[in-house]
Amino acid sequence: MIIVLFGPPGAGKGTQAERLVDKYQLKQLSTGDMLRDDIAKGSELGKKAKVIMDRGELVSDEIILSMIKEKIKNSEGNGFIFDGFPRNLDQAKALDKMLNELKLSLDLVIEIVVNDDILINRIEKRAQESQNARSDDNETVLKNRLNVYHQSTEKIKPYYLNQKKLVKIDGVRSIEQVSQDIEGHILNIGKQLS
Ligand code: AMP
Repeated sequence: MIIVLFGPPGAGKGTQAERLVDKYQLKQLSTGDMLRDDIAKGSELGKKAKVIMDRGELVSDEIILSMIKEKIKNSEGNGFIFDGFPRNLDQAKALDKMLNELKLSLDLVIEIVVNDDILINRIEKRAQESQNARSDDNETVLKNRLNVYHQSTEKIKPYYLNQKKLVKIDGVRSIEQVSQDIEGHILNIGKQLS
């Protein structure tokens, strides 16, 4: 099973991805986490990426795609859950191509819908809780990340709608309720796949 969790920054993709990993033994592939690992290691790639991430811009497709390629070709198990990837149409097309080469295909794209005002509130809270704060959690950067989401990332939606793979769920509910909705959609594709 290969799933993309799609949605704006702060929508809860990471939290939901972790729950799916536990429940279905999927491998979580979060490009944001991979980049933060590189920053923590102090690698050249990490240093370059940090400057871009701290501005709320997108890291180059070249870097992102090579990270993803490495992970999907070296992985066995029940499948993947992509979190924070793809972020633009070129990445979405490149993902299909990579999966195709491995004779795999995407099963489902789950959009977690949360409006901008609520997201700004959530991120401000996260920034105040210092142990969870990230260097890109502040209002100015968040507004830029939301802009990038609306300008680039959301433009992927018609691509997945055409493939009949996109489902929307309301992200402004409890973590448990959002999980239940996601699991309902996963059960549905299970039926179609069997
Ligand atoms: P995230 O943890 O998914 O919110 O990502 C944090 C930051 O990492 C983003 O604001 C981008 O700067 C960068 N990033 C993460 N994933 C991608 C991606 N797929 N493409 C480009 N940049 C990314």
